[in-house]
Amino acid sequence: MNFIMKYWDIFVEGYSSYSSYLWYEITHPGWHNYFYWLLVVSAFFFILELATPWRKDQPKFRKDFWLDFFYMFFNFFLFSLIIYNAASDVVVNLFNDGIKAITGGFDLQANNPLNGAPLWLILIVGFLVRDFVQWWVHRLLHRSDFLWEFHKVHHSVQQMGFAAHLRYHWMENVVYRSLEYIPLALLGIGLYDFFIIHIFTLAVGHYNHSNITVPGYVTGGVLGLLVGLVIATGGFDVNLLQDPSMGVQFATVAGSVAVGSLLVGPFMKKIFNSPEMHIWHHSYDLPEEHRYGVNFGLTLACWDYIFGTAYIPYNGRDIRLGFPGVETFPEGFVSQNLHGFVGANKEERVMENGLPGVSGNGTTKDDVPTSSVK
Ligand SMILES: [Zn+2]
Ligand SMILES: [Zn+2]
Repeated sequence: MNFIMKYWDIFVEGYSSYSSYLWYEITHPGWHNYFYWLLVVSAFFFILELATPWRKDQPKFRKDFWLDFFYMFFNFFLFSLIIYNAASDVVVNLFNDGIKAITGGFDLQANNPLNGAPLWLILIVGFLVRDFVQWWVHRLLHRSDFLWEFHKVHHSVQQMGFAAHLRYHWMENVVYRSLEYIPLALLGIGLYDFFIIHIFTLAVGHYNHSNITVPGYVTGGVLGLLVGLVIATGGFDVNLLQDPSMGVQFATVAGSVAVGSLLVGPFMKKIFNSPEMHIWHHSYDLPEEHRYGVNFGLTLACWDYIFGTAYIPYNGRDIRLGFPGVETFPEGFVSQNLHGFVGANKEERVMENGLPGVSGNGTTKDDVPTSSVK
C-alpha cells in the first residue's frame, strides 16, 4: 500500500507544482515561457498567411479557425504540459525503481550516456530521438483502427492553416507523451531541454500547417540564422568562439545564413517537413499502395524518404482535405473530444471503406475510393 501511495504522491505533486508554475507563466510575460512563445509563433505565421497566402482564395479566417484557435491553447498549454510533467515523474520513478529492482541496483540515471554532454548535443540527440519516435507513433495512429478514430480529429481539417497544427484529440497527448517519454527519460532529457526542443518543433509544426509556401533557400537561411546566433552568442554550451568581437559575431551569423541558404537550402524539403509535403498527409484521397497514409513526419521529412512513405505526386495546393466520412464527422470541440469513445461504429467504418452495397442507390461512384484514408 505504501508503495502505491508513493507513486500517487508523486503524481499529485507533479500536478500541483505544475499548476502553480503554469499560473506563474501566464501572469509573468517573458521570453522564457511557453505561453508567450505560443502567442508569438502563432502571430508570426498568421501574419505570413495574411501577407503571402499559398491558397489566395482561402478565407483569412478559414473554416474552423476559431475552433482550432481554442484547440491550440487547450492542447498545447493545458494538456501537453500538465500530463507531460505529472506522468513523466511517475514514469521516471517507476522506470528507475523497476530497473533497479530487476537488475539488483543498477542506477539508470547515473549510467545515462549523455551525462556530462554539452547542452547542444543533448538537444540534438533528444530532438532526433523524439522525432523518430513520434514518426512511428503517428504511423501507429493511422494503422490502428482504435487510435485512428482519435486521430481523425486532426484529419477533419478541411481548410488548412497554422492553427490546425494543434487540433487533435486529447487522447493523442496520452499516446504521444507516454510513448515518447521512455526513450527521452533513458537519455536523461530534462524538462528544460524538452522546452527548447518543443518550442522548435512547435514552430516547425505551425509552419507545416500554414497557408504559405516558402522556397528551400529561405528556410535554409532561417535555419542558418538560428545556428549562427547560437554560435555567435555561445548559447547551449557551444564554445567555438572565445570572446568574439561584435564584428566576428556579425560575420559568424552572416556566414551561417549564407551556408544555410546556399548549401543546405537545396535539401531543406528533404530534411524538414513543409506545407507542400504535409498537405498530402491531409489528402482526402490516398493512393492504393499507401492506404494507411503518407508523409507521417512531424518535424523531419527524412524518415518518410528513408522508409518509403514520402508522397508528393504534384503541387498539392488545392487538393481536397479530410477523409471519406469527414462530411458527417462531429464539428464541435466537445463532440470531437468524445469521438473514439462514443459515436464511432462499425457501420461508419464500412461506409468509409467504400465497400460494395453501402452507397444506398446501387450505383458505383468513381469518386469513392476502394480503401479508407487512414
Ligand atoms: Zn495523421
Ligand atoms: Zn497535420
